[in-house]
Amino acid sequence: MFNDLAGLRVLITGSTKGIGLAAAKAFAAAGAQVGINGHRHDAAHDQLAADIAISVGEVAYFGADVTQSAECEALVAKFVARFGGIDVLVNNAGGLGGRQGLENIDDEFYDQVMNLNARSALMVTKFAIPHLRQAAKQRGKTSSVISTGSIAGREGGGPGASLYAASKAWLHNINRNWVKEFTQDNIRFNVIAPGTIDTVFHADKSAEVRDKIAGSIAMGRFGTSEELAPSYLFFASHACSGYITGQILDVNGGQMAP
Ligand code: NAD
Repeated sequence: MFNDLAGLRVLITGSTKGIGLAAAKAFAAAGAQVGINGHRHDAAHDQLAADIAISVGEVAYFGADVTQSAECEALVAKFVARFGGIDVLVNNAGGLGGRQGLENIDDEFYDQVMNLNARSALMVTKFAIPHLRQAAKQRGKTSSVISTGSIAGREGGGPGASLYAASKAWLHNINRNWVKEFTQDNIRFNVIAPGTIDTVFHADKSAEVRDKIAGSIAMGRFGTSEELAPSYLFFASHACSGYITGQILDVNGGQMAP
């Protein structure tokens, strides 16, 4: 069913590590043309793109800090200059941005978390829309925007992660509005809400805390980035999900059933 991904032009923000990288590898293996992105560019990232491309698809690295609107615009422009358009956008860049209780939150911390998780997806999507619209028209198939939300956006987040959780709830909801604005252009919007996935996101946690979290998950363990990747392919594939838009898919090993 995923065989309509070959040749699709897929831009994935925040994809030099973790969930985004696993998705990039899966798209490349399916024959897509993939743009990977991170904010700290070094030669290793070009090598990373070359390594992934050894599969079937074509992969290129595009450095951009997506907390900055101008860099979001430049990222889309560079991707389009290379691949000629965009069929699939994955808004994956994001992160905790630090932990602060309410009484310690100041403007700087607010901007840091909201720019990373909310502004980034808003601005990359804004600049990608004309290309997604054109691609849908040319192919006669839906284009797809897939955003990485979070279980935190459903249940409020852990200690000090109120803004992160709120930014993900914001992301879940803005996609519902975009469905109303852009379905007429044949663009679909869906969100993948991971549970606790074993990436550097959790590097600050002790073994004891990790065990406690694992114990709260029905499957008794953290998920892996590779277990997330097929869900991105599903939402990118018109054949698989052409009639699905405005949805949140929880991939969390039974950690929560909303
Ligand atoms: P990660 O830290 O392993 O990877 C994050 C990626 O984003 C990296 O490639 C990094 O270079 C990139 N990035 C960070 N800031 C950036 C910026 N300003 N501009 C461009 N790229 C930037 O994280 P991950 O765990 O794979 O998380 C990926 C997404 O999944 C995030 O949106 C995160 O909030 C979400 N998420 C993760 C978990 C989890 O348990 N790991 C759970 C729920 C949601």
